[in-house]
Amino acid sequence: MKISCAVMVAAQAVAVCAGLTTDAVAQGRPSSAELQAVVAVEAARKAGEPELYALLKTMPKGGELHMHLSGAVYAETFIAEGAKLGLCVASVDAGSPAVPVGQGAVRFVKPSATGCATGQVPASDAFKRQPLYDDLVDSFSMRSFVPTQGINGHDQFFATFERFGSVQGVGGEWLDEVATRAAAQNEQYLEIMHTPPFIKAATLGYKLGWPEGAEHSVTHEQLAQLRDALLKGGLRQEVADDSRALDAMEQQRNEIERCKETAGSERSAGCDVSTRYLYQVLRGFAPQQVFAQTLLGFETASADPRFVGINFVMPEDGYLSMRDYHLQMQMLEYLHSVYPKVHIALHAGEVAPGLVPPDGLTFHIREAVELAHAERIGHGVDVLYEKDSAGLLKDMAEKHVAVEINLTSNDVILGIKGSDHPLAAYRKAHVPFTLSTDDEGVSRIDLTHEYVRAVEEQGLGYLDLKQSARSALEFSFLPGESLWRAKGQYTQRINTCAAAITAKSEPAESCRKFLQENKKAAEEWELEQRLANFEDKLTASRL
Ligand SMILES: [Zn+2]
Repeated sequence: MKISCAVMVAAQAVAVCAGLTTDAVAQGRPSSAELQAVVAVEAARKAGEPELYALLKTMPKGGELHMHLSGAVYAETFIAEGAKLGLCVASVDAGSPAVPVGQGAVRFVKPSATGCATGQVPASDAFKRQPLYDDLVDSFSMRSFVPTQGINGHDQFFATFERFGSVQGVGGEWLDEVATRAAAQNEQYLEIMHTPPFIKAATLGYKLGWPEGAEHSVTHEQLAQLRDALLKGGLRQEVADDSRALDAMEQQRNEIERCKETAGSERSAGCDVSTRYLYQVLRGFAPQQVFAQTLLGFETASADPRFVGINFVMPEDGYLSMRDYHLQMQMLEYLHSVYPKVHIALHAGEVAPGLVPPDGLTFHIREAVELAHAERIGHGVDVLYEKDSAGLLKDMAEKHVAVEINLTSNDVILGIKGSDHPLAAYRKAHVPFTLSTDDEGVSRIDLTHEYVRAVEEQGLGYLDLKQSARSALEFSFLPGESLWRAKGQYTQRINTCAAAITAKSEPAESCRKFLQENKKAAEEWELEQRLANFEDKLTASRL
């Protein structure tokens, strides 16, 4: 819905009005610098996608709250690592006697003691045989994908993870890749989903089993007993393993990026991107494994502040994910009561009509919010198919439950795009939203691409994008207080830091002290400064 142009200053032409929406303007009357940015984005939109991309690449984006580490890595990186690790390439077709170079899907496999098996080739061959290299890139991503009988975008997307899954290292290079890409797009914070080691917890879970009669519904008492048994069985020992694994990953990233070196050296811009982690739990397994891994996630997040929360992953439409959805929300309800400080974000509503039966579309987001205490919803695509969807949207807005919007992912996995996407409904209901990539490597996109898509496909203007950028920090699980007086309302900052933030201003002493003690507010202050700088530059370029 467009606002009346009467609120604009006369000098701003029609183009300004075209780029503004009531929701964005509800965040406060736009400044003249903001209006210049609105005009610039609208002009770039009309000029074409590359122009819009070039402009939005430099726009400060705050950060990203929905990205999976392995899915964020590009195929080219996996190929280089696979060659370095001495992996082999095999056909994904078990019946195929040899790697079908130039004509089929392939995957990495570990070599045997004697090397690559008959019909397989070394990954390093890809550097000498372009068709093999092309097959690997296509097999590890959505590039060149065309649906065929029995294989749709959903299948290809999730199949990629198994194909590059043999590339296992410390992960520092992956962190470097995502942080470097984020820095190049004016992002300052990443909340990365990652699965740390959990084999001991899972083994213990299977040893103890699942309470009898609790196949469809489980009580807090039953879960408390199971938790006691898991802790007695030594589950906490793996917490230290998980922290050590993250230490190694971060250390490797810091070395690659030369983060210890001072300015003017070869220190990478990626060093300045703050990262925190969401403990990723695999939901498509038996309840005893899911509960054990989730408990390990809560324990790890309680012990290691770098893990700021947990999330559940794997296809939500999978058999076990669907069968046990309610049960898994009950697990989270119980664990939230034991560990109330651990934040929860959940993939919920990443399903679409036809993918699952109609009943499967009616309750996932609501249970994630009401039972599992999710503070953020990932995807939320089926929201309008949920029971009392209007009531659910109202609840989300009132409780400040944000939705992480992944436009490209929803298109390639679910076939949902344009007016079929519920972003407009969320915005109309004032549910906070933030744009994210989900799996930028698999989709071969970046966050700027999603900003562009939001403008072109969803009709967002500069002020809406600015809201998304601010929400990426406001609804992050960073510790500390917010810079803003009311959650998600970017009109008034707290009194201590109420002074205007310009491209060159320094915080007053009391504000500086507050920012030192509150990481979230500090990142938000930094974003305001970057935004002021961006808008100033646009204004200067138009004068
Ligand atoms: Zn996701």
